[in-house]
Amino acid sequence: MRYISTRGSAPDLSFEEAMLTGLARDGGLYVPAQIPTLDADTIRAMGGQSYEEIAFTVMRPFIGDTFTDAEFRDLIAKAYAGFGHPSRAPLVELAPNHFLLELFHGPTLAFKDFAMQLIGQMFQLALGRKGERVTIVGATSGDTGSAAIEAFKGLENVDVVILYPHGRVSDVQRRQMTTPSEANVHALALDGDFDDCQARLKDMFNDFEFRDGVRLAGVNSINWGRVLAQVVYYFSSAVSLGAPDRAVSFTVPTGNFGDIFAGYIAKRMGLPIDRLVVATNQNDILHRCLSGQGYHKSGVHPSISPSMDIQVSSNFERALFDAYDRDGGAVKQLMDELAQGGFDVSQGAAEVLAEHYGSGRASEEETSQTITDTLAQTGHLVCPHAAVGVKVAGEQRDPATPMITLATAHPAKFPDAVEAATGIRPPLPARMADLFERDERLTRVPNDLEALKTHIKGLIAQ
Ligand SMILES: *Cc1c(COP(=O)(O)O)cnc(C)c1O
Repeated sequence: MRYISTRGSAPDLSFEEAMLTGLARDGGLYVPAQIPTLDADTIRAMGGQSYEEIAFTVMRPFIGDTFTDAEFRDLIAKAYAGFGHPSRAPLVELAPNHFLLELFHGPTLAFKDFAMQLIGQMFQLALGRKGERVTIVGATSGDTGSAAIEAFKGLENVDVVILYPHGRVSDVQRRQMTTPSEANVHALALDGDFDDCQARLKDMFNDFEFRDGVRLAGVNSINWGRVLAQVVYYFSSAVSLGAPDRAVSFTVPTGNFGDIFAGYIAKRMGLPIDRLVVATNQNDILHRCLSGQGYHKSGVHPSISPSMDIQVSSNFERALFDAYDRDGGAVKQLMDELAQGGFDVSQGAAEVLAEHYGSGRASEEETSQTITDTLAQTGHLVCPHAAVGVKVAGEQRDPATPMITLATAHPAKFPDAVEAATGIRPPLPARMADLFERDERLTRVPNDLEALKTHIKGLIAQ
């Protein structure tokens, strides 16, 4: 399996190279040159399988000869052993034919653990056998950073530096990043918003001298390995509701478009998915774009679902690449226009996008009201991100087709918003009950590329 860049002018890579590289050298994102398919019998057989077995079947065609079958099974087993639920990604019923897929039973209570725990294992094996060391720099709106620090802390071959927007993450998110004491992990509070963090990260990747000097690697969802690991739970959940003999739909609380793009890959692999609905908060650039208004930046407005406070949604580039018939030149042109403020989508590409993706948005009041109503009607506490999904799914679902809404984080990760809506302050699970007693290491950094480069070189020289 070879991987190609969405901007058409970086070299093709193997899975291992694409995973360790992150961003392509032409500024694009890596995608598989072809998308493998699974036949109906293979999908049907997943009905009786464990999450780990399904994970092996779904991901195996993408990894080429990077790992042997035995190695890959072992990595998967280790990645999910620390999850707090035996089925890893359980489904609960909210209403007839409306289900919530709980993706928050991993070590940092958000769906990011599904990919990050596996990536941590894959990096360790791949780097260990080459005797190489890398510096992972990540940008986070809160959950990627804590998941990455948890997955990589104490590993021998990596230093991890996480940029998060100062003052714009929840206390639980910040503490999950600032309390681990391992010397190879560093959380930096950047003076800016998430888009600034992600832009500085891309600047570092595009500075080849720095990139090669520190052996920069990325674990944001620009990394194909992230997207791949997330394809698995689309299969496991759909199969438990009758796929491939029954179609299902998904609603996905969306920010950087990584999670929903994983759903699109599942569909292209042969999973019968009727609708993939993008649910945004008030930062609704994706909803506006998918409603035919072009992709035009308008500034990030902090919300109660902070992990979705994004305007420059990096994985949307992967969706555009397919919508533009895999024309890297066309995608490069759009991204150049985006740097100037925005772009319009061609008629043909808009039709392709509309064929695969629906969309909706939830305002702050609607999100909060949905948390209140969901508790009253179903007895379930949902986090504000999941609430955005539940609200949009409620509007858009066809009662005859099962709708699966992704619950992307545990309500205890966002206790203020949940308490404001319900009067109930959800407690942290027992294994992290002492989070607020642990010591924090807080470092603030300016939104300035040169200062960041100097700071990071200093950290890894220690
Ligand atoms: C990251 C995140 C999202 C958005 O996922 P994308 O893959 O960036 O679209 C939604 N909810 C939560 C809780 C998250 O951490």
